[in-house]
Amino acid sequence: MTEAAIAETGFHGDRDHLLEMVLGSNDLPSLPDVASRLLTLMSREDTELSDVADLISKDVALCSKVIKVSNSAFYNFPQQITSIQQAISILGTNAVRSLVLSFSFLSLNKPKGTERFDFNQFWQRSLASAVSTKLILEQLPGVDAEQAFLAGLLQNLGELVLACTVPERFEAVLEELEKGEQDQSAIERELLQLDHARVGYEVSHYWSFPPALSLPILYHHRPEECQSGDAEIRHYTSALYLSDLLVNILYSEKPQEYHRRFSAEARRIFKFTPDQVEIILDNAHSNLDIAAQQFGLDMEKSRSVQEILQEANIRLSLLNLDYEQVNKELVQAKMALEKLTNELKEKNEILKDLANVDGLTGAYNNRFFQQALDTELKRSTRHKSDVSFILADIDHFKGFNDEYGHLVGDFVLAEFCKVLTGNLRQYDVLARYGGEEFAIILPDTGAKDAAFVAEKLRAAVEAAKFRDGGVCHSVTASFGVSSVTPVDEKVPDKKALIKTADEALYDAKKQGRNKVVLGGEKKKWFGRK
Ligand code: GH3
Ligand code: MG
Ligand code: MG
Repeated sequence: MTEAAIAETGFHGDRDHLLEMVLGSNDLPSLPDVASRLLTLMSREDTELSDVADLISKDVALCSKVIKVSNSAFYNFPQQITSIQQAISILGTNAVRSLVLSFSFLSLNKPKGTERFDFNQFWQRSLASAVSTKLILEQLPGVDAEQAFLAGLLQNLGELVLACTVPERFEAVLEELEKGEQDQSAIERELLQLDHARVGYEVSHYWSFPPALSLPILYHHRPEECQSGDAEIRHYTSALYLSDLLVNILYSEKPQEYHRRFSAEARRIFKFTPDQVEIILDNAHSNLDIAAQQFGLDMEKSRSVQEILQEANIRLSLLNLDYEQVNKELVQAKMALEKLTNELKEKNEILKDLANVDGLTGAYNNRFFQQALDTELKRSTRHKSDVSFILADIDHFKGFNDEYGHLVGDFVLAEFCKVLTGNLRQYDVLARYGGEEFAIILPDTGAKDAAFVAEKLRAAVEAAKFRDGGVCHSVTASFGVSSVTPVDEKVPDKKALIKTADEALYDAKKQGRNKVVLGGEKKKWFGRK
C-alpha cells in the first residue's frame, strides 16, 4: 500500500496508539461552537445563504469582526459592507466561512504544554502561511483563494494538537529539531511514527472538515502524493506546500535557500512567470501585517523578503572575507544603504508633496495653504517683513460650466493655475482655496507691490487663451488683496488677513468683476474700468 493509500484508509501499529491518545485526550482543543455548527451547516446540500447568515449573526462580536475585515484593505472592496448578509453576497460564502473559522481558531486557548512550543509564534507563522496561500492562489484564475486562506492557516494544526495532547513527546521532537540536522517531519516520523501533517489531517477529519481543507493539510509537505480527482484540492495542496517554503524565507535561518526553492517550485508546479513570483514575494510581508492587524494578532511589523535576502547576503559574504575585505564590504554596504535611505527620503518627499497638492490643478491644497500662511506670518514677525495675500476667484464660472460642461471647466481651472504660476515668484505659494477660488501668499511683499502683482495676474488671465481641441476659451477673474506689516513681536492675525482679502474680493465682484481691490485701510481698486 502506498503512503497515500494508508493515509486515506486508516492507521496501524504504534501510530494507531498515539492517534488514539491524541484524539481521546482531554487536552485536545475543542472546536469552537460556532465553527462546528458552521461546518455541519456547510456540509448539508440544502443549506441556504440565509442559514449561514443567521448562524453567524447570533454571535455579535464575531459578526462585527467579520464585517470589519470585509471592509479592510485585506479585501479592498470599494463598497461599504454593513451586514453579514451583505458580506456573504459580496465576498461569497466560502470567504465568510473562511473568516469565521479563522477567527475561531485564532482565539483558541494557549496549551499548558511544552517549553519549546511557542504558541504566539505558531499563529504568526500560520497567519503568514494563510496570507501566502491566498497570494499564491490569487495568481491562478478561477481558483477560490478565500477557502484556501483557512487551509493555509491550519496546515500545521497537527503541531498545535501534538503540543497540547502529548507535550512531552512533542518537546523531544522540538529538542531534536534545534540541533538543525533534519527536517521536522522526518524527526516526527522517527520519534512519533507519524508527522504533524497526518495528525492535522486526522483531527480535521474528526472535526468534519470538508476534504478541500483536510486533504491539503495531509499532503502539504508532499503535494505530489495527493491523488485527489478534484483539481481545486490539488491546487490547494500545492499552494500550501509553496506557502511553507515562503514562510521559511520570512522566518528560517536560511532565507536564500528557501527563496531559491520557492521560486523554482512555483515555476515548476504552477508555471508562474518570474513576474508572478515577484508579485507574491513583494506583497507577502505587507499583506501579513494587514492580516495580523485585522485578526488582532499582536506581532512586530514584518520585514520584506527583499530586505531579509539583502541582509542574509551581506552576512554570508562577510563570513567568507578577511578583515580588510570585511571593512571594504562594510563600507560598500553602508554606502548602498545610504543610497537606499536617500532614495527613500526622496520618495517620501514626493509622497508628502502629493498629499499637499490638489489633484486637478497641481496647486497646493487648502490644508497646506493654512500651514504655509501660519509659518509665513511667524517668519515675517521674526524678520519684521511684510506679508501679502491675494484671493482670486474666476468670474461667472458657474455660467461657464453650464455653457461648456464641467470637463471643459476642469481643463480651464488647471490652465488658469498655470497662468497664475507663470506670473508668480518661486517662493510665492499658490493654493486652491476651494472650488474656483485660489489663495496666493506673497512673502516679503508690501501692499502696493501685492496690488501690482494682482493686477499683473488679472491682466494675464484676461489675455490668456485656453485652447481645448479646436475651441478657444477665455475667462476673467477678480482679485482681493490684503497685506500686513508685523508690529513688535506679535504674530499678525491670520483670520483678519484672509477676511480683509475676502471682503476686497467681494468688492471687486460688486464693482463689475475682472478687477483688483486692495482691502484694509489703504483700500483702493485697480483694473480695467
Ligand atoms: P462669481 O463671478 O460671482 O464668482 O460667479 P461664479 O459663477 O464663478 O460663482 P459661484 O460661486 O456662484 O459658482 C462657482 C462655480 O464654480 C460653480 C461650480 O460649478 C464651479 N466650480 C467649482 N469647483 C469646480 C471644479 O472643480 N470644476 C469645475 N469645472 N467647476 C467648478
Ligand atoms: Mg467665481
Ligand atoms: Mg465662487
